Formats: sequence, C-alpha cells, structure tokens
Amino acid sequence: MTGATGGRLGLRAAEPAGSRQVYNFTLEELTVYLQDLGEPPYRARQIFQWLYQRRAQSFQEMTNLSKGLRASLASALTIGRAREVTRQVSKVDGTTKFLLEWPDAVTVETVLMRHDYGNSVCVSTQVGCKMGCTFCASTLGGMIRQMTAGEMVEQLLFSQRLLDEQSQRVSSVVLMGSGEPMDNYDAAMKFIDIISDEHGLNIGQRHITISTVGLVPGIVRLADEGRPITLAVSLHAPNDALRSSMMPVNRAYPIAKLMEACHYYHRVTGRRISFEYALVGGKNDSLQEARELAELLAGLPCHVNLIPVNYVPERNLTRTAKDQIYAFWNELKRLGVNATIRREMGHDIAAACGQLRAEHANRG
Ligand code: SF4
Repeated sequence: MTGATGGRLGLRAAEPAGSRQVYNFTLEELTVYLQDLGEPPYRARQIFQWLYQRRAQSFQEMTNLSKGLRASLASALTIGRAREVTRQVSKVDGTTKFLLEWPDAVTVETVLMRHDYGNSVCVSTQVGCKMGCTFCASTLGGMIRQMTAGEMVEQLLFSQRLLDEQSQRVSSVVLMGSGEPMDNYDAAMKFIDIISDEHGLNIGQRHITISTVGLVPGIVRLADEGRPITLAVSLHAPNDALRSSMMPVNRAYPIAKLMEACHYYHRVTGRRISFEYALVGGKNDSLQEARELAELLAGLPCHVNLIPVNYVPERNLTRTAKDQIYAFWNELKRLGVNATIRREMGHDIAAACGQLRAEHANRG
C-alpha cells in the first residue's frame, strides 16, 4: 500500500491502535488471530458467517461462540466504525448514494446502483484523490488518506443492509468511487479477498471491476497475479496532448506506455479490458477523436464505455449534446470498436463522483 496515511492534510491513521476493525481481517488472518487465543480454525469461519451472511453488528449476537470469547473479541475488536451522514435516493432509478463518516471525521461516498442484471456497488478506495483529473469533483481537496480494506467492506455493507430489507444481494462491485485503487493496491486486493470469500459475502471475483487512471506498474502487477477480476482503464482521450490536459497522470504514464501495459495484461490474462471514456462537451467528443480512439485500440480485445459527464459546478463542465454522443458512438462502431453508452444512474441526485461529499464540505 502506498502512502498509507500520507495524505496532504496529514490526518490521523486509518486504524487507531487498540481498536482493530474486524472487517479488516481476511479469513486466513482471522484464523491466525483466533489460534493465538487458543481457538480452532472453524471459529473464524463461524465469525465470518455471522459478519457477512447474518450481518451481525455485535459480538454478543454470535451465540455459537462462548461468552468468554465474545467478551474478549468485543474488548479487542470493533465491528464497523462508519456512520451514515446522509443518503440520496434517485426517484428515477433507485440509485442510492451514501455519504459515510469515520471517527477521524473523514467522509467518502459509496453508491448502490440497481440494474436489470443485479445490484452493483461502487466503492471508494481513498478519501479524496490526488490524481487531479480535471472533470472530477473528488480530487478538488486532494487526497486525505487511504481507505483500509475493512473500510471498503463497511461501505459495501451499507448497501447490502439496505438490500436485505428487500431480500436482495449485492451481485457486483466496482472500485470506481473516489480515489485511485492502484494507489492503494494492497488494501484494494485485500478487500477483494474478503468480499469474495465463500464463507462471507461470496461475491465472485469475475463480478468485481477495478478501475485505474492508468498506473502502469499496477496494471502489470495485476496481470502477473492472475486474478479473474475485470480491469477498467480510464482513458478519456486518444492522444497525449489532450489526455495530459485532462489527466495529469498521463505525464508520468503516457498513452504509449499505458497501451503497452494493456496489451501485456491481455496477453497474460486473456481477458478483455474495459476502457472508460468520459465525454466532455467540446473537449474530447469530436468525430476526429473517435477515429483516433479507434486507431489506438485496434488489435486489442476491449470494450469502450462512453460516459457523458454529469455537470460539475465546481469545474464548469459542459455536457456533450445527445446527438453528438450518438455520433461519436456510431463512429466507433463503424470502425469496429465494441462500445456502449453507459446508462446514466441517479441523474436526479448528486451522482457524479465526489459531488455529494463536496456539497457536504461546502455546507461545513
Ligand atoms: S476520476 Fe478517479 S482518479 Fe481521477 S481524480 Fe477523480 S477519483 Fe481520482
């Protein structure tokens, strides 16, 4: 994990001593922890089932554990520390955005999206973000600190508890909220291990997508680790001049290097890559740019998600006109690129990444 607590504002560590977060344990780690207390390995599986299948929120509920063990776990571990500050629910499609706050006063957003094919949760991997993409509200205050794996699990559980009321479950997860997951690589992968454990939430890794702004070492590492998760690369521009003006990270990892890593990823894993392309009015949405994009992606099995940006007041962004969105899409298809226009979720709420948090901060 990079810069675990090294945010620009220098806030407190994510995991204060003496108050370990049980959601931060993989099953293997919990097994070792319990072994040190003289407990057999199946205890860890029992606790995972309580936490993730029965959504227990206290150790006292875990009635198949001895009273002594429950008391010692309760004195050493916490079960979640976030509180819900506010929630917005779209009247159009039921998209629910939660703003959560941790005891060190940091806030992040997590979003539950309801699709025909199931419920998807978008998780934030950092508090704020240091990547500086010009179209994104999450980066306006810089990066404050990393989220731990356990805090990502907590985000997901807020959505799952809401779905429990309707006997539904989270079926897919995207690491696409605030932050750059590959700048918090170890915690992001640990989160994936925890939520995909068959004794817990059992969300298949094939239903998990990690989104990156294009940190090449992370893409290579992910390829070498061979996890069956989906890689989504935020491309947003087909040439270096334009991409660097929208995404400062492009100066460190220009398009040629990024594409080289993407080809490597495909060669090693055999998996198709998703490319995210935020259409910003008058910026990157011309037919010439569609042609350049098609040329760039030629020969790489992939899929392009076109995302018409939401209006971000702080950034004075213009939305691409509907006709132009379709013209861009048709040009890509004509040139053989597999592309879709992403259905806009939660149009009637502050759905753009970081907007709710920014509004909350502005209200002070
Ligand atoms: S788009 Fe993602 S990587 Fe870029 S600034 Fe926003 S949160 Fe960070």
